[in-house]
Amino acid sequence: MTMKCPKCGKEMQTGYLQTDKIMAFNQHIHKLSLHPKDENDVLIVNNMINGANFKGAICKDCGLITFDYTNINVKE
Ligand SMILES: [Zn+2]
Repeated sequence: MTMKCPKCGKEMQTGYLQTDKIMAFNQHIHKLSLHPKDENDVLIVNNMINGANFKGAICKDCGLITFDYTNINVKE
């Protein structure tokens, strides 16, 4: 399945966004802990042992990566 980049319109390459241990999307930069402080903060990964794998797509032209953060730990 191909996907066009929502930012620049070029073809994106699919793959897996892999992360280690902890990842968050926060409203403001947290300096000490990535855990949520605001109701809109999202703790995407909190797995001290295995990390996580998300299926996603990357645009190597403009640098955008898209992935579904609710679809955690997809297998190849
Ligand atoms: Zn792009």
